[in-house]
Amino acid sequence: MKITFPHIGNSYIPIKALFEDLGVETVIPPKSSKKTLELGTKNAPELICLPLKINLGNYIESIAKGADTIIITGGCGPCRFGYYCEVQKEILKDMGYDVDIIVLEAPEGNKKEFIRRVSKIANTKNIVKISKSLKNAITVLKKLNALEEMVLKARPYEVHENEVDKLYNNFIDKLEKSRGSREMINHLNNAVEMMKEIKLDKNREVLRVGIVGEIYAVIDDYCNFDIGKKLNKMGVEVHKSLSTGEWITEMLLFRSMGMSKEMKIWEAANPYIKTCIGGHARETVGNTVLYSKEEYDGVIQLMPFTCMPEIVAMSMMPSIQEEKNIPILTLIIDEMTGEAGYLTRLEAFIDLLRNRKDKRISQTVDS
Ligand code: SF4
Repeated sequence: MKITFPHIGNSYIPIKALFEDLGVETVIPPKSSKKTLELGTKNAPELICLPLKINLGNYIESIAKGADTIIITGGCGPCRFGYYCEVQKEILKDMGYDVDIIVLEAPEGNKKEFIRRVSKIANTKNIVKISKSLKNAITVLKKLNALEEMVLKARPYEVHENEVDKLYNNFIDKLEKSRGSREMINHLNNAVEMMKEIKLDKNREVLRVGIVGEIYAVIDDYCNFDIGKKLNKMGVEVHKSLSTGEWITEMLLFRSMGMSKEMKIWEAANPYIKTCIGGHARETVGNTVLYSKEEYDGVIQLMPFTCMPEIVAMSMMPSIQEEKNIPILTLIIDEMTGEAGYLTRLEAFIDLLRNRKDKRISQTVDS
């Protein structure tokens, strides 16, 4: 059995750690590219959301590399994600691929059930081994997320250009070449320490922007045209409101304890949206409100074209912008989105934020 899975940001690294610890052979799909998107777009329904198209391309590329089993995340809920796995199964079948597809449903707090499913994939009943491998993979994921967060915070302040990127890319390379979680955890610990050593000019005047929106578009840098790096290079510190690490911890831990770390976000969203309507719409709204409270200079909402929950969240953005006095830009992404036009919109938004901030500073100085 050669297992493959879709790309979502850097999550292939902890997934690789998990299966290597469990002794399962994996095929990591080639990094998402124009070719991946073309393969997905050609074979998926035209109006389906962008993440499905990219993921479908990932599977096709992995099958070409020898994968015979695909792990697909599943779930239920009011948006299309609930029938994603069935659609993907049908498409691959129609394309004539003879592959096994295993749906790893979101555990919604049921740890035992999750372990049972992993045990089936890993073909072992050794619960200790599975639990330990899962725990280590989550450690890799969380440390990786922390490193990514540090990069998005440090880049706009770096004294020597590209120093952060050199270090980060070097460590991603090391992680890809590592085998198993232990080696990866060591590399990640070193990376965090070395990142702290990078010389930063904290007197530099930078803007702070929060990124909200559909989880795949927020996390996956191919899908979002590496928005974090683009903004960093414009002198903007970036915070992403969603990460795979937090999502997994929420699913495995907090929900099983009947409590959710998301409560604070839902509370903030409450005046605008009181219930889950699928995807992360409620979190998009709540996090936008929270960014305004933390005095961020602006918020960018990322949304795949035709994403139902984010369309609803988008309809609330003008009210939040006015009531919370925070500029918000919504970027809709699909396979037709051109990078040049996307960059122009980003630059115009950042100019607006900079003028607004300069005006505020000069008003404070005058008074
Ligand atoms: S959240 Fe949006 S993009 Fe994601 S599956 Fe649902 S409708 Fe599609």
